Amino acid sequence: MTFIQTTANPARWPLLDLDVAMMRAAGHKAAPFRQFILKIHSRCNLSCSYCYVYEMTDQAWRHLPKQMSPTVAGKAIERISEHAETHGLDSADVILHGGEPLLTGAAWLSDLVSSLRAQVPAQVNVAIQTNGTLLDRPMLQTLKNLKIRVGVSLDGDAEATGRHRRYSNGRSSFDAVAEGLLLLESSEFRDCYGGILCTIDIHNDPAATYEALLKFNPPALDLLLPHANWSSPPPPEADYADWLISIFERWYSAPRQETQIRLFSEIIQLILGERGAVEGLGLRPSTLIVVDTDGSIKQLDSLSSTYPGAADTGLHVTSSSFDDALDHPTTVARQIGADALSPPCRACRVMEVCGGGLYPHRYQHGVGFRNPSVYCDDLLRLITHVRERVIADLSTLSVLPVERFDFRSQTGPARCCPCLGMLHTERLLVTAEHPTEPYFPGAPVSCGFVNGEISRRHQSVRMKLAE
Ligand code: SF4
Repeated sequence: MTFIQTTANPARWPLLDLDVAMMRAAGHKAAPFRQFILKIHSRCNLSCSYCYVYEMTDQAWRHLPKQMSPTVAGKAIERISEHAETHGLDSADVILHGGEPLLTGAAWLSDLVSSLRAQVPAQVNVAIQTNGTLLDRPMLQTLKNLKIRVGVSLDGDAEATGRHRRYSNGRSSFDAVAEGLLLLESSEFRDCYGGILCTIDIHNDPAATYEALLKFNPPALDLLLPHANWSSPPPPEADYADWLISIFERWYSAPRQETQIRLFSEIIQLILGERGAVEGLGLRPSTLIVVDTDGSIKQLDSLSSTYPGAADTGLHVTSSSFDDALDHPTTVARQIGADALSPPCRACRVMEVCGGGLYPHRYQHGVGFRNPSVYCDDLLRLITHVRERVIADLSTLSVLPVERFDFRSQTGPARCCPCLGMLHTERLLVTAEHPTEPYFPGAPVSCGFVNGEISRRHQSVRMKLAE
């Protein structure tokens, strides 16, 4: 099997310098893929200024077929089935992506999803990420019938969205997306409403952005840092931490949870010792793989924002299984947790929570991906802020049978707690004899954890029992 390694070595690490055999010998087992992104249409009806597919360094889309052919789609389904069977997966997430995936049309989508559900020997959860401009009633009815969760990209109000998310003639996409979102949030289609994905632009007021998105009642919000790296950094004056902390405070202090913001919920869960669930935070192995419209098997799509070919593996669904991609250096780099991180990250007090940031954001030309995130300062400030807020909140929960919550008894130099991203002495101690007691109304206890709520009781947390 031949993996693509560019001769100019734009990413020495991991392409040349990561010793996969040594990692395997050291005990790093491959984690099977569980999320399969199918890029079913390579073109888009918008020309968003920050799009990594069309507007950044990798222009590979120009040579791709417009739409995934039935043959390639069938082969991709076969490969997902094979992978599910080989690894005994009980479920698989399939995310339909583009370009704009709804350009394939309702009939094509129906055929694809019916085949997926019929052939893959596991529960198949299907989601679609769309720009929202094509969400009319017939399309939504199709998506609802197929039980497809719909995620829509929107940057905020009309002004914020018009800044980047435009048609090629310069017209803003806001009105068309708003129309689709109003339908999607209606009782008729709400069951398939996945949420809104917002790419941060610090020129937009954070509170106004949050309020504008809330108007569409999303069950979940994803706030994404714009793609940048050490060779193509964000503007030096851009303060993403302040922007995010403004929204965090608004969200965390609300009398009831208005929506789930995955970035913040995830940080809280990681601070409390849970394993992460989203790419770009924590040290959990990434289990995501991509199939492009031409059938090529690719890495994380957003790697296209770093250098041409960064997402390529040299593999194709007609000739390779997904297992073949498990030993690709980039897959391994995204699965070995702290061993993939740079020395500054290894020494960082929030490493367990941050995880070095999103993989593409670590890139530096000629060096590769073993660097802290280009957003390191912002991530450190955001995580530290959330951590302090959560600790303060937990310490006021008198209903918890907290035996000891001691910040000062540490003797000797402070050590990081590998699990909580907190100092050892800051670990919340809940004695094991209490777990079945109803100390926390409505707080079930399972497997050594206490489930509770903080942030005016709307943010679920999970606390480890003391050993
Ligand atoms: S905050 Fe910075 S140094 Fe710490 S883990 Fe994240 S990227 Fe690495």
